Amino acid sequence: MELKRLTVRIRCDNGVCRNNAEYAVKRSGTPVARELHLCSECLAALAALYEGISTEKKEDGAKKKGGKNVGTNMGNRD
Ligand SMILES: [Zn+2]
Repeated sequence: MELKRLTVRIRCDNGVCRNNAEYAVKRSGTPVARELHLCSECLAALAALYEGISTEKKEDGAKKKGGKNVGTNMGNRD
């Protein structure tokens, strides 16, 4: 996976966004026409959203681990 700066003028692929795309998200073997083209605003917004989601997931994982530890502690009582 590769994030490259665009030198050509293409419209941002994100819904109704009317900006010109500045970046292309490219997986190896993807034809140019199928690349994901995003403007810097949408890319930054996506990155921020993903960061929020991945932080939530980490917190959920910690809670689950906490639950397991409680179970382990109960086992240790015997
Ligand atoms: Zn955009």
